[in-house]
Amino acid sequence: MAFDIEMIKEVYARMTERVDAAKKVVGKPLTLSEKILYNHLWDGNATTAFKRGVDYVNFAPDRIACQDATAQMALLQFMQAGKNKVAVPTTVHCDHLIQAKEGAAKDLQFANKTSAEVFDFLSSVSNKYGIGFWKPGAGIIHQVVLENYAFPGGMMIGTDSHTVNAGGLGMVAIGVGGADAVDVMAGMPWELKFPKLIGVKLTGKLSGWTASKDVILKVAGILTVKGGTGAIVEYFGEGAKNLSATGKGTICNMGAEIGATTSTFGYDESMDRYLRATDRADVADAANKVASYLTGDDEVYANPEKYFDQVIEINLDELKPHINGPFSPDLASEAGADLRAKAEAEGWPLDIEWGLIGSCTNSSYEDLSRAASIAQQALDKGIKVKAEFGINPGSEQVRYTADRDGLLGTFEKLGATIFTNACGPCIGQWARYSDPKNAPKNSIVHSFNRNFAKRADGNPNTHAFVTSPELVAAIAISGRLDFDPTKDTLLNDKGEEVMFDEPTGDELPTKGFAVEDAGFQAPVEDGSGIDVVVSPDSDRLQLLEPFQPLGSEIKDAKLLIKAYGKCTTDHISMAGPWLRFRGHLDNISNNCLIGAVNAFNQKTDMVKNQLTGEYGPVPGTARAYKAAGIPSIVVGDHNYGEGSSREHAAMEPRHLGVAAVIVKSFARIHETNLKKQGMLGLTFANEDDYELIQEDDTFTFTDLADFAPDKPLTLEINHADGSKDLIKLNHTYNASQIAWYKEGSALNLIKKENAA
Ligand code: SF4
Repeated sequence: MAFDIEMIKEVYARMTERVDAAKKVVGKPLTLSEKILYNHLWDGNATTAFKRGVDYVNFAPDRIACQDATAQMALLQFMQAGKNKVAVPTTVHCDHLIQAKEGAAKDLQFANKTSAEVFDFLSSVSNKYGIGFWKPGAGIIHQVVLENYAFPGGMMIGTDSHTVNAGGLGMVAIGVGGADAVDVMAGMPWELKFPKLIGVKLTGKLSGWTASKDVILKVAGILTVKGGTGAIVEYFGEGAKNLSATGKGTICNMGAEIGATTSTFGYDESMDRYLRATDRADVADAANKVASYLTGDDEVYANPEKYFDQVIEINLDELKPHINGPFSPDLASEAGADLRAKAEAEGWPLDIEWGLIGSCTNSSYEDLSRAASIAQQALDKGIKVKAEFGINPGSEQVRYTADRDGLLGTFEKLGATIFTNACGPCIGQWARYSDPKNAPKNSIVHSFNRNFAKRADGNPNTHAFVTSPELVAAIAISGRLDFDPTKDTLLNDKGEEVMFDEPTGDELPTKGFAVEDAGFQAPVEDGSGIDVVVSPDSDRLQLLEPFQPLGSEIKDAKLLIKAYGKCTTDHISMAGPWLRFRGHLDNISNNCLIGAVNAFNQKTDMVKNQLTGEYGPVPGTARAYKAAGIPSIVVGDHNYGEGSSREHAAMEPRHLGVAAVIVKSFARIHETNLKKQGMLGLTFANEDDYELIQEDDTFTFTDLADFAPDKPLTLEINHADGSKDLIKLNHTYNASQIAWYKEGSALNLIKKENAA
């Protein structure tokens, strides 16, 4: 049902020729990352060697995956493209909108009721346009992708930052914004700056309490949350071959926490085993035929300093169990005394209230079995559990198999709550408190990837620590953050001091995976008869109307806001409670720029309405200009639009009538998003001209009719005192991007081309 073996064979069939061509132009042996990138060039065989960290390159990904929170706007946009089917295999996964409260059965029922409209929408759009749909409860997007779609040497994009998890099966898998995914769904290339490469050489073998999670917790401590930015992290060495495929997935998953573009591992026997165990022997057979192309060249791994931009070496024989946190995943400590010293110095609560096992990072069968081996020891040795336990299996297949094999039963005997196969507490969907803002200071330990304040339960005083599932189990049972299972004893019900034995577990279920209903809905062959119904009264979903072209004359536009200082995509389109409206452009536009600081009064969400002279919220003011048929302008500082790639930050101002965003400099993805939505994203030719902008200004573009690549535009600024300034504005629009502007949006152009 799931994967497309013919597509995979095609990728492998062209791989030898393309990789050999790349070797010629690059003139040296290649890393795995380069082989995958060069095999996925939009233009075919490489004719030039790309400069890492410099050149923007067009790629042709093999797959797309979207989760329910981001898929809404992505699919609403795709529906505008005028296509009958997605151009590239795509799946949608319902995992973010399910709250963890009472346990899987009740929670899933509740989610199906409260988000029925969103799930029905995603299901019907998927069915119509040839998209595979994974129902609520089917599992967490990245675990499902690993089990069904990831394949060695492939390239995929996904509208979620932990798409990188698929590197565990040797992919280059990258998280993107919805607008990028829509381009690829519509058959357009996907652009990425050719990444830098960080090599991580793993020697030795994990043993005892040390797990794959400790590798990435250690790497995060070395590289910090920014150290991987713009780079692919490639793991290699004997130590890498000794890790399971799902363990590799854990390591790649948390590459997102060091800012890496993605992470990957070369093809090896662990991947062969995993592919066969997940019913994909034909993929393993096909991969084995091109195995040398699915890993870096021997010379690269023998002399990594010559071929990577940075090299790190970790000896797994010496690696100690780690616990990272609180509040940042790169705050690394070794379990036990090291963490105790820091906790005592910083005042972190040492008592543990909850142990949570799950998330896309650590919810494989191996993870559950190793953690269950510790839980079983607590039962066998008569140790009482001090903290509460919550488990989120990664997929229905993992849940069903773990249930069959008694793993979940072991946790349940310890009083654990088995939550839905979904993100739950990992994304704040955890109904732990009725009033989280005023909840007490406490510590929890989990096997997730992120531990920012409020991320799990909304309580800013919850200190969340990240570690391996087996250590979560031991720590939750002991109730102590500083518990060191290699040294510390616990009292059992007879008053004896006992110790845990080292965790044991199965890389893959010995009786094989099993599942009754995986929760997959395959799309119908011909979706033309399917109606996608969106109620006009819905406050969560709204069909998009094509944006009208802004035209070659923008006259007498008003200043909406001159933003002062940092203005990220969070300032432009906040997350948190606004997530609920991600599928409703008009409703979510009520958060447009409400976090931006007005340069004239240093206040947020308080700008002058030039029509009334009164001050009010940014969205309301924009709506007033729009209602009066007057375009508006946003002015900003440096690196405007940094942060996430969310397209809402461009769509909202566009929807509210903003014609141009003029700044000192842009974050590149946001600049592209503005272009895609058919707006003007421009930079001051002379940065000091930012100072010329006054609160009561109106603006006229004098030469927009001649909009052309490499030709600055001219802006006439009319001040309230009757004076005027004429300034030059630079832009980076190429001919096709100017065509987007002229059509009103990139999607309008695709639609037009499609109709022709
Ligand atoms: Fe994101 Fe957590 Fe869900 Fe993974 S489990 S996809 S990190 S929310």
